Amino acid sequence: MAQITCEDVVLGYEGRTVTKNINFSVNKGDYLCIVGENGSGKSTLIKALLRLIKPVSGKIEIDEMLVASGMGYLPQQTDIQKDFPATVREVVMSGCCAKLRRPFFGRSDKEAALTVMKRLGIDGVSKRSFRDLSGGQQQRVFLARALCAASDILLLDEPVTGLDPAVTEELYSILKKLNREDNMTIVMVSHDVKAALRFATHILHIGDTQLFFGTAAEYEVSEAGQRFINPGGDCRA
Ligand code: ADP
Repeated sequence: MAQITCEDVVLGYEGRTVTKNINFSVNKGDYLCIVGENGSGKSTLIKALLRLIKPVSGKIEIDEMLVASGMGYLPQQTDIQKDFPATVREVVMSGCCAKLRRPFFGRSDKEAALTVMKRLGIDGVSKRSFRDLSGGQQQRVFLARALCAASDILLLDEPVTGLDPAVTEELYSILKKLNREDNMTIVMVSHDVKAALRFATHILHIGDTQLFFGTAAEYEVSEAGQRFINPGGDCRA
């Protein structure tokens, strides 16, 4: 069974439709990139998958196992989050709280947090203040937090915004490893379609309606893909 299935989903706010005809599914181990112009509803779709907002109509089905084990979420970064007054370890461990829905930590949570911090190479800075870290390290900390919250799926909203090219590559490489080696399902909103094509197994392209859903290879040769990848280029190229 698919981990996520969307059928004829319409999304919007206060009577205004943002996007419609959303039909796709995500299976264990998929790496889905959601692409589209600014304002097309990519973040809104992530919020709907997290059940933070309800679709206007249509059906979003999330596998019960996934609901029980939790979904790791890495939101778009804001300046307020970057100034968070806590240690790295505290930020990472707050992910365990989200998963267990309780306000204290057990020994297994501490061990889980340490394992994840080691996996992402931030165990050496665990006692440092989060706000003193570089943007790239902060993003690793948030990724570690999301991994503490879930072991099966990660939802990420433009995770490389504001990072320099080297740190961006590093983050993409971590995500690729998590997907290929740990079979972690990844659903990521991306404004960088060329990067999306390097890593994703599947692409969902949305505008005011769904423009494409299929494999990355299919997208690359599709009309929607050609137009988006090479704006102003020759579609027949
Ligand atoms: P994207 O992530 O593709 O850039 P968003 O999902 O953020 O697009 O936004 C889609 C549209 O919904 C935009 O027009 C945006 O202004 C609007 N929107 C986003 N959040 C809200 C909200 N909480 N209330 C009303 N409108 C919103």
